[in-house]
Amino acid sequence: MLTAMGDVMRTAYEKGWITTRDGNISLCRHGKDTMYITPSGWRKTIIHPEHMLKVAFDNTDHYVLGENNSKPSGELEMHLMLQRSYKATRAVVHLHPTNIIAAMYAGWDLQILAAEFPEVSRYTRVGPSVPVLPVTSSELAFATYGAMTKDRKIIYDIVGQAAHGVCSVGKNPWAAFEHIERLEHICEIALRSGVTPKSK
Ligand SMILES: [Zn+2]
Repeated sequence: MLTAMGDVMRTAYEKGWITTRDGNISLCRHGKDTMYITPSGWRKTIIHPEHMLKVAFDNTDHYVLGENNSKPSGELEMHLMLQRSYKATRAVVHLHPTNIIAAMYAGWDLQILAAEFPEVSRYTRVGPSVPVLPVTSSELAFATYGAMTKDRKIIYDIVGQAAHGVCSVGKNPWAAFEHIERLEHICEIALRSGVTPKSK
């Protein structure tokens, strides 16, 4: 599954959903209190299992530095909050998918939009979008966690982050990627349709 982490990031880059050093992914196996996460600023076209950093949930300052003294992704806090609240094996993926960001920017409510397309509504639970917040900030981590969870349980598969990206959770890296892919596809359809955005 560590290999899949890199494969997902390369695919995201090829699709134009991140620029070279953007995006991040974490993975935690069932019952573990440690997770693997992509290093900060690493080129996602050349990321492989040996580059992933292992971080303990209870002592995040004592991660082992990776190759070239790499540090965990700047969105570490967002990953930790979501990873801690789930016991099964899961992956958390953060990307900047073009059409999802464009749809939010144009005023579409992603939950309303998703409900209209069975391609998404059958397989992917879309949560409320997070407002514009500083990248890598605690505010963004808390708002994303708050949008994806209820009573400390993850109840949505994906949420949008206005003017920034998405956060998605799945049982493995590709499952999380598929939630993003489905939502991205219908956002492209909505934008191409020329229909006026429906918002709450
Ligand atoms: Zn980002």
